[in-house]
Amino acid sequence: MILPITIYGHPVLRKIAKDIDNEYPDLENFINNMWETMYYSDGVGLAAPQVGKSIRMFVIDYNPENEDEDIAETDSDSNSDIIDGNKPFKRCFINAQITERFGDEVIYPEGCLSIPGLNENVKRPDTITIEYYDENWVFHKETYTGFGARVIQHEYDHLEGKVYTDHIAPIRKRLIKGKLNSISKGKFKAKYRYILG
Ligand SMILES: [Zn+2]
Repeated sequence: MILPITIYGHPVLRKIAKDIDNEYPDLENFINNMWETMYYSDGVGLAAPQVGKSIRMFVIDYNPENEDEDIAETDSDSNSDIIDGNKPFKRCFINAQITERFGDEVIYPEGCLSIPGLNENVKRPDTITIEYYDENWVFHKETYTGFGARVIQHEYDHLEGKVYTDHIAPIRKRLIKGKLNSISKGKFKAKYRYILG
């Protein structure tokens, strides 16, 4: 089932999301709905608060061949614990905790299904370590570099009550204030259903 997306200004996007346990009702069905909603909306990732649930869960399916932009290759690393986030990956992250952020700060434009019609440059560290459970409740601790690290940080922000525009430079933020205001009032075009705050 395709779920409606919560839009900038909706209070659920400002809440700190809570961990769940394996008794969480109808989790498998919810995860399937997240995937379906993400693909329908042409998103690379989707976090639970974006469909109105304040739980620590997000899904990502990153495949560079679907992207318009050329993604720079990173050097392959001898350390096999490090996942090259410029290569395709698909994961469901439950009870996610980013435990480390390091590496160079990289600037790259981001967009968000909850902020339709806007793309802004965001500076983020290019490497992160994350601990999470997958959809089978198997624990993982992984380090991602490159674009994958960016997508994870973007989705993770949604669990922390943040959105990517919180990170942009103050002067730029003042310039787009009116635009964000219009978006929060529903003045945008989107092919997906949505819920305003
Ligand atoms: Zn987002």
